[in-house]
Amino acid sequence: MVRVVVVGGGIAGVYFISRLVELVNNAEVVLVEPEDYHFFVVGVPMAFGGLVKFGDLLFPFAAAKKVRHLKFAAKALSLERGKPCVRGQTHSAVCGDYLILAPGGLKLGSAAYWTPSGALDLYAKVTAAKTVRFIVNVFNPAIGSQELAYAVKTRFPEKGVSIHLVYVSPDYDFLLKPWISKAQEAGIAVTRDPPEWREGEFHVSVPEVRPHPLAADLEVRP
Ligand SMILES: Cc1cc2nc3c(=O)[nH]c(=O)nc-3n(C[C@H](O)[C@H](O)[C@H](O)COP(=O)(O)OP(=O)(O)OC[C@H]3O[C@@H](n4cnc5c(N)ncnc54)[C@H](O)[C@@H]3O)c2cc1C
Repeated sequence: MVRVVVVGGGIAGVYFISRLVELVNNAEVVLVEPEDYHFFVVGVPMAFGGLVKFGDLLFPFAAAKKVRHLKFAAKALSLERGKPCVRGQTHSAVCGDYLILAPGGLKLGSAAYWTPSGALDLYAKVTAAKTVRFIVNVFNPAIGSQELAYAVKTRFPEKGVSIHLVYVSPDYDFLLKPWISKAQEAGIAVTRDPPEWREGEFHVSVPEVRPHPLAADLEVRP
């Protein structure tokens, strides 16, 4: 029996576990994750677009077979009797033959919007506003803002929707170009200027992502 401890039940951790239990018969899998459910973040724009319900994006770990879920946030790594371990603020060390780190990135800023209740709150604000402006104020462009903008504009064509790439390095132009033209075709304005505040507008600040503290000092090797 080989014991594998996976830290983080986001898409990376969950997909890793599903492949592991499919391919390895004698694996004992332990998931360390502070939440009770997997939240399928990538589906949030689909919920905004009305294609799925918000509740359909939640998958409780209790329903997962062959996985032992330990509900706590990992805070520190260690090596004990030659095995990699992880411990929480109050939780003692959990060790395995393998330790898989998948805690995602550290989200800064309006990160609450990417939680189940936060996504609903964002949706309520978006539906109430006449105009929705996504402000990308940081170096990294991403985190689904363009997909949310497509979803909002498609579902509510009467709303003004714009994306403001206030501070995004030209290094990312190759990533941005394909979706900028698609956004403009859909009636979404894309600009590098910050928006001015006007009555009836809702401004969404896209969160910044940094390396997770658990993995920040680890070197990635082939
Ligand atoms: C609206 C939106 C749309 C997106 N659309 C796409 C898309 O179409 N295609 C695409 O490829 N990507 C998309 N992304 C990006 C994608 O969601 C992320 O790249 C992906 O979720 C990263 O997965 P992850 O498992 O690495 O991390 P996360 O999804 O961040 O999951 C990390 C998990 O680890 C847990 N965790 C955190 N800290 C700890 C800790 N200390 N101990 C234990 N557990 C911990 C968290 O609770 C969470 O469950 C989108 C993002 C957003 C917000």
